Amino acid sequence: MVKAVVGANWGDEGKGKITDMLGKEADIIVRFQGGANAGHTIINDYGKFALHTLPSGVFYDHTTSIIGNGVALDIPVLFKEIQSIVDQGVPAPKILVSDRAQIVMSYHKNFDAYEEERLAGKSFGSTKSGIAPFYSDKYAKIGFQVSELFDDDLLKEKVVRVAEQKNVLLEHLYHKPLINPDDLYKELLEYKEMIAPYVCDVSLYLYNALKEGKNILLEGQLGSLKDPDHGIYPMVTSSSTLAAYGAIGAGIPPYEIKQIITVCKAYSSAVGAGAFVSEIFGDEADELRRRGGDGGEFGATTGRPRRMGWFDCVASKYGCRMQGTTDVAFTVLDVLGYLEEIPVCVGYEINGEVTTDFPVTHLLEKAKPVLKTLPGWNCDIRGIKKYEDLPENCRKYIEFVEQEIGYPITLISNGPGRDDIIYRK
Ligand code: GDP
Repeated sequence: MVKAVVGANWGDEGKGKITDMLGKEADIIVRFQGGANAGHTIINDYGKFALHTLPSGVFYDHTTSIIGNGVALDIPVLFKEIQSIVDQGVPAPKILVSDRAQIVMSYHKNFDAYEEERLAGKSFGSTKSGIAPFYSDKYAKIGFQVSELFDDDLLKEKVVRVAEQKNVLLEHLYHKPLINPDDLYKELLEYKEMIAPYVCDVSLYLYNALKEGKNILLEGQLGSLKDPDHGIYPMVTSSSTLAAYGAIGAGIPPYEIKQIITVCKAYSSAVGAGAFVSEIFGDEADELRRRGGDGGEFGATTGRPRRMGWFDCVASKYGCRMQGTTDVAFTVLDVLGYLEEIPVCVGYEINGEVTTDFPVTHLLEKAKPVLKTLPGWNCDIRGIKKYEDLPENCRKYIEFVEQEIGYPITLISNGPGRDDIIYRK
């Protein structure tokens, strides 16, 4: 049985916590896309961790953590992450890396930074983790696949070819130091040594695991609105954030994904540039940012303050639809307990007309939020375990959102801890 945990919005919905929680029943947890550019924050008995590459399941000793072929594999980051969790007393996790995953090279990170520098004020707000240059090279067929590390003749020939191409841009577009093929070769040999113990034919491994009836959890990064096809292009990420891509990025049949748990945060936050219709500013935003998440809404990778907004029913309805949601996990609801009244975005006004269907980017940029204000519950809901025990206004908020987005909210998260969860049919 395969389940996917994915995001409905711009990322940072609290997927890490939900994955960590569902990981209890999983045998295998797979990262299927993205790279070390976004992170999950996880709090458990061992402490607080920011994971960028490892799946959130690494804290269980019964799970195998897999980096699928769809991931942008940053080998030194992965290595450091394994080290840091072991150093904090977590038992050495069982990790497998797909032999078909491709490698983020040091020049990808350089190109990412050079391009941001070149674009200056018009930049995409990249985290400079090399993700966009990495995926461009993958599809231009000049990336390095993990399997290629074990073919020395190929590597020696390919480093020359790649350096030649990259150096044209480095010299003429960016005016930066050139790549020496020998250094590139050395870099690859270092990576080979670091990654060798983990390399695996992942799709075959998962095929066998499915035959044995194992439980597999696919862990998505970011959310629907950052998908390169269905998101707010071009302010998107470079790999698909949708559950459907889980089949490709892990190497399993699409029909095996039986449950798609889409994580929606009870308010909105976003990082980087791009239209954000329900965005709020000033003191109102500062207060929500300060109280948000666990210790404030600041990027797990960059520490950047996140942009804040009210819950957006239009974006979330679309985000859930694109994921193929079977269940919604509604998170960080406890944070809204300080508000007397809670505005919710229920429509977009575009060129004088109101719609509840999420539009393409150039129309999205014109959209003004249509807000409806719901009464707050004005108390702390942490520690509550049963749906019926939530304050009436809190239940009304949940039920209103559920009605608007059209997908069942079956999980409610009312705190950052693993057990801060309310199940609802
Ligand atoms: P992800 O990338 O989707 O995993 O999201 P983040 O790692 O940014 O998680 C959001 C933050 O919210 C983290 O600091 C979590 O510990 C925290 N968090 C998750 N669920 C809840 C919740 O229900 N309540 C509170 N207060 N914090 C939560």
